[in-house]
Amino acid sequence: MDPASANTVLIIEDERDVVDLLALNLRKAGFTTSTACDGAAGLEKARREKPALIILDLMLPKMPGLEVCKILKSDPGTRQVPIMMLTAKAEEIDRIVGLEFGADDYVTKPFSPREVVLRIRAIMRRGEAKPDDERLTAGPITIDPARYEVSVNGKRINLTSLEFKLLRTLIQRRGRVQARDRLLNDVWGYESVIDTRTVDTHVRRLRKKLGKAANVIESVRGFGYRLKEK
Ligand code: CA
Repeated sequence: MDPASANTVLIIEDERDVVDLLALNLRKAGFTTSTACDGAAGLEKARREKPALIILDLMLPKMPGLEVCKILKSDPGTRQVPIMMLTAKAEEIDRIVGLEFGADDYVTKPFSPREVVLRIRAIMRRGEAKPDDERLTAGPITIDPARYEVSVNGKRINLTSLEFKLLRTLIQRRGRVQARDRLLNDVWGYESVIDTRTVDTHVRRLRKKLGKAANVIESVRGFGYRLKEK
């Protein structure tokens, strides 16, 4: 990672007082901050500056926060940058963190700046730990966790960060059946079981992207999924 951006938090938010509050507290905690006040400008800055983390508000002018999140998380150049969403809408949380958008964490407004700083530190620690940098293979599939790259027969395929984590988890636990609720817990980070059909939806999408190579993932009726032993 570029050392200049290794400590930078990009704040994408249009409410001036929220930006000021966050920037002040982050600087006090030793971070460098960068700001953008609409979705389009935020997207552009995220791509150019490659910050260590992005705080992204849901409601933004020009481009909504979820759209920005989705674009960043599907771009191999930015998908490894953690995103913490700010939201005033509790009902959006499942979609934000778990489903199609792939944000890493969220905070609901009004928030305590101290809480935000603690969460950011936790996310960054998770990123530093990197115990899983080793290349993994399953049949024609190769995963390079350090670069967030997946290829099938040497050809790169584009996975969302959730699909990536799901595939990596299955490969790491090769041969062992993974129950849906366990996957929700380990891949999605949910402590309580929400709708386990979420897992099926993502496995379906992952299989589609893997094409013929998808036969390495077996469904175990009534339980969950398993990666075939070689
Ligand atoms: Ca806003």
